Amino acid sequence: MKLIDPVVYVENYDGEEIMKFLANMASTCYNYEFDISKDNYKDLLLKCIKSDHSSILEHKTITIKMIGDSGVYKDLERHRYATFSVESIKNLKYESELKLIKPVNIEEQTDFYYEWEKCVKKLEESFQIMKREGATEEQLRMIIPYSAALEMNVTCNIREWRHLFSLRTTFHAHPAIRQLLIPVLVKFKQDMPELFADIEYDTEFPKEKYAKILPLQII
Ligand SMILES: Cc1cc2nc3c(=O)[nH]c(=O)nc-3n(C[C@H](O)[C@H](O)[C@H](O)COP(=O)(O)OP(=O)(O)OC[C@H]3O[C@@H](n4cnc5c(N)ncnc54)[C@H](O)[C@@H]3O)c2cc1C
Repeated sequence: MKLIDPVVYVENYDGEEIMKFLANMASTCYNYEFDISKDNYKDLLLKCIKSDHSSILEHKTITIKMIGDSGVYKDLERHRYATFSVESIKNLKYESELKLIKPVNIEEQTDFYYEWEKCVKKLEESFQIMKREGATEEQLRMIIPYSAALEMNVTCNIREWRHLFSLRTTFHAHPAIRQLLIPVLVKFKQDMPELFADIEYDTEFPKEKYAKILPLQII
């Protein structure tokens, strides 16, 4: 059994370029009353967000790749305007051991952690026996736990990122999702303040538990 930390790879983007592009799209609707060549593009974006003129935010997308647990994917794929490409269960065929994400909300060396570990070890044992005996991928899938590590690519336009963050970075979202998405939101807030400053998130979530953010390398 291999235990790993979750990680997020974020597509390289230029926040200012995205904001200027969106403002350019918006300015068509306002008869170019804003001179977006200056800092006025920020006012235009804020005006659009405040008045819920949100469709202009759909003109740009950002893609992230995450290694998170499969429970995260189960929750995120409910967002119908997000686009996903997710690792197939078939990949497990080549693994000699189950790859799991360390549970963010069960502290190590506690009774619950001990029970979790006992349970996933037993699952892995059964997984290996079934695999050895020739179980099909469809059969093996039936015993994969929510803790299983999954690679998922998520593309959203800016409007959908705002919606997704507003639902999935608050206290009500599962900690495994907060762990992955809060650091992404914090980054977006820094790089594109006019687009994300108003999105509230769980500021109490421990920073030391934030997933690592790395650049998404395209080869
Ligand atoms: C804290 C939390 C707990 C949850 N718990 C559960 C649970 O226990 N069980 C469960 O099944 N789900 C649960 N969900 C999932 C939730 O019900 C939504 O499916 C999910 O959050 C996606 O939201 P959305 O519909 O806004 O998403 P999107 O698909 O991203 O849609 C975006 C927006 O488009 C509009 N829209 C999209 N489709 C339609 C449509 N067909 N008709 C009208 N308007 C539409 C809505 O305005 C919607 O908000 C939970 C979500 C959260 C955040």
